[in-house]
Amino acid sequence: MTTKDEPARRVSSFYLAIILVIFILSLSALYIAFENIINQSDPGSSYSFLAVGFFGLALLGYMLLQTRPKPMRAIVETPRVITTLECPKCDFKNIRDFQRGDYIFKETGPCQKCDETMKITAIYREAKKKEQ
Ligand SMILES: [Zn+2]
Repeated sequence: MTTKDEPARRVSSFYLAIILVIFILSLSALYIAFENIINQSDPGSSYSFLAVGFFGLALLGYMLLQTRPKPMRAIVETPRVITTLECPKCDFKNIRDFQRGDYIFKETGPCQKCDETMKITAIYREAKKKEQ
């Protein structure tokens, strides 16, 4: 299966790094805020830490929503239809993409080995490959 270049994927891994950083920063901000509130030390700055933490989490949620566009999923789910051609004389097999007008037992071009007319013996949908 030919793998297409996916610039979107590179962008999303870049986004992921940013999201991770924001996540860690907002968690530590929230942690500091709660610790200050519990210890009742420095209540003024604890609220600003709290605000920073929640703002970070909100930003995180927004970014996560932004990085989930449909196109990537659409590429993965597009089924590929394959046509198998077979030579009745020498059993030579050829596999190509399905073309409009293909049907089973249709006679197609000459065999690459013996010039006998090849026939379509199978048309099927290729099993989905999950890309990581
Ligand atoms: Zn042949």
